[in-house]
Parts: sequence; structure tokens; C-alpha cells
Amino acid sequence: MILRLFAAAISLLLSAAAAWSQTGTFSPSNPPEMKPLTGRESPAHKTAAHFQRGVNLGNYLEVPPGQNWRVSITAADFDRIKAEGFDHIRVPIGWHHYTGPGPDFKISDAIFNKVDFVLTNALEHKLAVILNIHHFNEFTSNPPAHTEKFMAIWRQIAAHYAKLPDTVVFELLNEPKDAATTAVMNPIYASAIAAIRETNPHRTILVGPGRWNGIDELKNLVLPAVDNNLIVTVHCYEPFYFTHQGASWAGPDVRTKGIQFPGPPATPLVPDPAAKLNRSVTNWLERYNTLPADKNPSSRVAFEAKLKLAHQWSDYYGRPVYVGEFGCYTTADPESRANFYREFRKVLDEQKLGWAIWDWNSGFHYWDPRSSQPAPGLREALFGKQ
Ligand code: BGC
Repeated sequence: MILRLFAAAISLLLSAAAAWSQTGTFSPSNPPEMKPLTGRESPAHKTAAHFQRGVNLGNYLEVPPGQNWRVSITAADFDRIKAEGFDHIRVPIGWHHYTGPGPDFKISDAIFNKVDFVLTNALEHKLAVILNIHHFNEFTSNPPAHTEKFMAIWRQIAAHYAKLPDTVVFELLNEPKDAATTAVMNPIYASAIAAIRETNPHRTILVGPGRWNGIDELKNLVLPAVDNNLIVTVHCYEPFYFTHQGASWAGPDVRTKGIQFPGPPATPLVPDPAAKLNRSVTNWLERYNTLPADKNPSSRVAFEAKLKLAHQWSDYYGRPVYVGEFGCYTTADPESRANFYREFRKVLDEQKLGWAIWDWNSGFHYWDPRSSQPAPGLREALFGKQ
């Protein structure tokens, strides 16, 4: 009996030690003002349940007036999005192109009408919606010079949509970059959240770290401890040389096309010597050509650890984390694209992270407007159905 009690006490001690080491293994280095919240029943967690499987309406309302890369979205697209199995849409919007002069920065009716069209159709189809500010480059190059405009835009959006259901949420800024570092954004986010709360006390708000919403930047984020209705949004386009191969806007490093997913390829890929690739690209291609599947850089290895970190960070801080963009450009071969979306989605499921793919019917399309059906393999990759 005494022996049994002794054994039980030892096993209790051991399990306590194991629990300690499990929580002890992850200790993020955020500034001390970033306080963990307890519980998984916060308003943010409840809203996050509506944002599990989404799609970005990319290259649409964020396209500046007068430019010709805008896709068209009609009422039929909302039927299709719903029928495919998506539960929400993320709507990138270039509000900053549609404002009058300061100090009011009045947003034009023209853009509100366009966004209203999207909202009406989405809500009719019971799709949840994320509205953001997208590609506000003047701001990200020089935040102090444009914070007043940023705040004025959010005050107006918040007032205009204050009555909408909780399944419409606001994302303060897509991909802060350049001078808009995470440290610079923290206090600006806090002010914008406070301003939105004046008209929308219960609206869920999304905020993301700097360096293009990089997962590695989560460590610098500081959120207002008093607000438990915030979701943290991150983006991940790894493995970048695969997902962005041939993308004109992504610079010279992604010129090499023909990269498959997963690697290694049956026949090594020999890059064009005229492409003058830098060392990190040639190293990556070397590893892609030679490493076995479980170590290859064009495989889940490229994103698994990052998504796991996002999950651990979310658990530690009691803040839902959402992956607002991932995807692969259509220059990759269709089979590799389907393999990539399938594998990425599986890891997101493993890490219990909600997501939205980039994009619906543009360069990374899920829906192919020419054939009027999903791109090959993507329905099965994302939803496990033919
Ligand atoms: C940008 C898109 C781009 C995509 C992938 C998005 O954040 O808004 O223009 O196609 O990332 O690079």
C-alpha cells in the first residue's frame, strides 16, 4: 500500500514536471507589455470560428482607379464561393485612393457603393467578411506623415458599418512593411482600435505584425491588454521561390520557373546561366535538386515550423491567430500547385489555424474564369472533395 502511494506520488510529480516542461518549451520574447490572456472563450475566439476557410477577392477593390488589372466580381461569384465550401471572404480595399483632402479625408460614395455590393452579396450567402486597407504604400513608407489619414479612414469605415453583424470584421492594415515596422505599428494599432471602439464596441478587429505580416515578427507585437476582441493575422508564402516563380512583381530572385512541389525533381532543374541568380537562390535550388523529400526546401519543411510557431504563440497569448494569405501563382505547373495547396492546408488543419487563400479569380486563382470551374485539383486539395 505504502509502495503504491509512493508510486502514485512519484507519477504525479513526474506528470507535473512534464506539464511544466510542455508549457516551458515555448516562451516567446515579446515585450513585457504584451500580456497573455487566459481562456479560449473570448469574443475573438468566437468570431474566429467563422473565419476557418476563406478566399481573398484579390486584384479587385485594391486596384487603384485607372489601372487595368482589376478582375470582375459578379453576384454569381458569391454563389460559387459558397458552393465550393468557403465560409468567408477577405476583401482587400484601396480606401486611401478614394479620400478627399485632410483633415477630413472624406471617403467617396463611389468606393462605399462598391464595398456595399460585396457586403450585401456576402451576407446574403452567409459568408463572413474581412474588410481591410490594402497597399497603403504612402503610409508604410512614412507612417507619421499619414497616420492622420489612416485614422480618418478607419473612423469613417467604422461609422459606416457600425450596424453590420459580428461576422463582418475589420483588418487594420495589410502587410505593414518598410518604415511601418511592428514596433512603429503597435501604438498606431492601439489608437485605431480605441477609435473604432467608439462606434463598434463589439466588432472583432484583425491586426498583423510588420514585415508583410511575417510570422517571425509575432515576437514584436504588443496588443492592448484590455481588448479581448482582436485576432492576429499573419501571411506565409513559403516556399517563396516555388510559390512566386515567374511573378514579375517579386523581383529577380524568382525568375527560375519549372520548380515543382514537392521536390526533389526527377531531373535536376538547371537555372538559366544568364539569370545571374544570387547565392541564396542557387543554394536553395541546389538543395531542391538534391535533398530527399522529407528535407527538401520545396515541401512542408518550408512552412511547417512557422505555422507551428503561430499556433504556439496563439496558445501562449490567448489570442486567435489567422493566416490571411497563402498561395501559389499560376506559373507553377497545375499538379504542383494542387500538391502545395493540399499540403499547406493540411498543416493549417494540424495547427488549428483558420485561413484564406490568395486568391479567387486572378493570378493565383482558385476559380478559373475561362473554364468557369476550379483550377485543377484545388477543390480536392482544400476541401477533400472532387
Ligand atoms: C498582394 C498581391 C500579390 C500577393 C502575392 C498580396 O498581398 O496584394 O498583389 O499578388 O500578395 O504576392
